[in-house]
Amino acid sequence: MRILVVEDEEKVLRFVSRGLSAERFAVDTARDGKSGLELAQNYQYDLLILDLMLPGLTGAEVLRRIRKSNSQVPVLILTARDSLGDKVEQFEAGADDYLTKPFAFAELLVRVKALLRRGPVTRASVLRITDLELDRLAQQVKKAGKRIELTSKEYGVLEYLMANAGRVLSRTMILEHVWDQSFDGATNIVDVYVRHLRAKVDDQHEPRLIRTIRGLGYVISENEVET
Ligand code: CA
Repeated sequence: MRILVVEDEEKVLRFVSRGLSAERFAVDTARDGKSGLELAQNYQYDLLILDLMLPGLTGAEVLRRIRKSNSQVPVLILTARDSLGDKVEQFEAGADDYLTKPFAFAELLVRVKALLRRGPVTRASVLRITDLELDRLAQQVKKAGKRIELTSKEYGVLEYLMANAGRVLSRTMILEHVWDQSFDGATNIVDVYVRHLRAKVDDQHEPRLIRTIRGLGYVISENEVET
């Protein structure tokens, strides 16, 4: 899952983004309101973590514009102010949760997971396709009931494929969803990871689920996919 963190305090930004990366999330960062809003409007995030006091546009203004564009992405507000009035204001503006600074990473993580579980749309926490099962909360993958160990990128690719089962995803889509902004390599990195995934998920099993659609990308499906 991909998370955008908008925060101008370098220390907090690093603390949050490193922690989330270690938890296998793809993390993008912005240091001011304007670039945060641009990223939020141009990419599909599963969650936004938004500081209120930001240079350029304030967090409240960023949130207002995001909601105005009809985006239902869950938003977690970070705020140094903890007066009741501010909180009420943020919820009215469309925030889903807030956290008062300073906070422990463990608490942030609990809230992030709760928001992701709730999701913008009904977001199933367990994805299944035949006997392949991916539990988004436990971040575990099982095939025929047996646990499969995946690296975080392999997991990210599989989760994205399974969340979009039956839909062909291009290498660029996969790259943008699973890798973060800082990655500037070639899209064939996706092929490498799909190969690893297949070796773990598909090679010993029938039916094979991860399919290559020539010239288009990849799809996970139990049936042949018409293109
Ligand atoms: Ca700030």
